Amino acid sequence: MPSIKSIGYSLHFGEEALKALSRFLDKQKYSSVFILCDENTLRCCLPQLMLNCPKLTEAQLIEIESGESAKSISICEQIWQTLFEQEADKQSLLINLGGGVISDLGGFVASVFKRGIDFIHVPTSLLAMADASVGGKTGIDVMGIKNSIGNFTPPKAVFIYPPFLKTLKRKQVMNGWVEIFKIALVSDKKFWELLKKSSYEKIDGQLILRSIELKNKIVLKDPFDRSKRKILNFGHSIGHAIESLLLGTDRELLHGEAVCIGMMVESRLAYQKKLISKKEQDEILNTLSQIFQPDLKLSFGFESILLQLKQDKKNKTHQFMFALVNSIGSCSFDEKVSELQIKKALNDQQLLSL
Ligand code: NAD
Repeated sequence: MPSIKSIGYSLHFGEEALKALSRFLDKQKYSSVFILCDENTLRCCLPQLMLNCPKLTEAQLIEIESGESAKSISICEQIWQTLFEQEADKQSLLINLGGGVISDLGGFVASVFKRGIDFIHVPTSLLAMADASVGGKTGIDVMGIKNSIGNFTPPKAVFIYPPFLKTLKRKQVMNGWVEIFKIALVSDKKFWELLKKSSYEKIDGQLILRSIELKNKIVLKDPFDRSKRKILNFGHSIGHAIESLLLGTDRELLHGEAVCIGMMVESRLAYQKKLISKKEQDEILNTLSQIFQPDLKLSFGFESILLQLKQDKKNKTHQFMFALVNSIGSCSFDEKVSELQIKKALNDQQLLSL
């Protein structure tokens, strides 16, 4: 079974991953084990997990409602309350069974509970397997701003069991592909070419594994997002701004969908700044529009986007700093962009209605 070493922990990938988790639990003597899940992962993934890890029949379940709105301080409080009531202590373990929402939220909850307890990720969505469970970032959304509160805390281990994907809805599968394409676009042209030829309907485990390896390689070089790791944020400045603004409305976007739009707009910015050619820009736009067709006119003005962008963690001394592709398979970071350039890119993408 492939096992990838990351910052102080390993990611175990494949059909044997749950067996590896069972061995891990046998070896570590935790005082109590909690499983964080949502209604979908409870129904679709928990039975399989229990079957492979008999020890977990004693674990206590913490179920939350699915969706990005769970990444909130009030849900954190609810989980902390349960942990206190169930007498979790410093030797307790939290297992995050779910997509990126569960891993970001559960990681954060565990990282600060009694100044930190162990947690592991068992990702169940394509996006979480290929991206969110890798790299040790935890976070929640506060004041309507995505991932505005969080930290870098590595899990004890990650167990990635691809058969969980059988029950994932198509829309969620496409959501996951976006981040896989992003990783290829910023770091590996060959992988990008391979992805273009792949069937999005049938998920090939080798592609997920390659995505994990590529992300992990970048994380190992820069675990705390100070330099090179920022390239993984390509598409996220605009993507997070739009995702945050639509959060809680009836036009809410999935994370991958928002990042897909973000990558389109930011590719236009890369072209404006002459980092890529028109041909490269068009190739990126055409390829991404096959994964997600943004049928979106923003009902809020440019000013609202700017307000969101001002909160972006990559900004420096009140300057907008973006990660921008400089060819297919390569990306630079700390690229200064002006308000005017951003407005032009959003207009060229026909997003602004005001
Ligand atoms: P998600 O966790 O909301 O999962 C998507 C949906 O699929 C949910 O409804 C969930 O219940 C359901 N689901 C999950 N696994 C399933 C399965 N096997 N069968 C059936 N249904 C299943 O969302 P996501 O797309 O996985 O993750 C998005 C989140 O990840 C965002 O909050 C984003 O900010 C975060 N993220 C974090 C990182 C990081 O490095 N920490 C990286 C990328 C994204």
